[in-house]
Amino acid sequence: MNGCIFCKIIKREIPAGIVYEDASVIAIRDINPQAPVHVLLMPKKHIDDILGFGDEDSGLLSAIISAIGIIAEKTGIRQNGFRVISNCGKAAGQSVRHVHFHILGGSLFGERII
Ligand code: AMP
Ligand code: ZN
Repeated sequence: MNGCIFCKIIKREIPAGIVYEDASVIAIRDINPQAPVHVLLMPKKHIDDILGFGDEDSGLLSAIISAIGIIAEKTGIRQNGFRVISNCGKAAGQSVRHVHFHILGGSLFGERII
């Protein structure tokens, strides 16, 4: 989608720290991390927010759930636990309108553990 910063990252038009990628999803390091591990996982297909997933996206949603486990393992947060958050819309503070899942770990309610 024109003007979407995450679509530009997906097309390699701007750089990002890519943590994981497969045919349908990509995960990058958040540029402004809120935890020792802060990864953004998103579909390569542009969808504005979680409300934009349709019946045709069941395979994509399954790929997202699988990728969460792979990324948690890869970044060392699987064992201790982590949070997955998707902000949807203005009141939630969604600042990039390309649906993404924040994967946050490496601290216990703000207290650093790794
Ligand atoms: P949200 O506010 O839920 O839409 O989250 C957007 C997130 O994208 C924020 O945590 C930003 O720090 C992050 N972000 C914005 N631009 C970039 C970028 N170019 N590379 C990596 N993360 C970014
Ligand atoms: Zn996009």
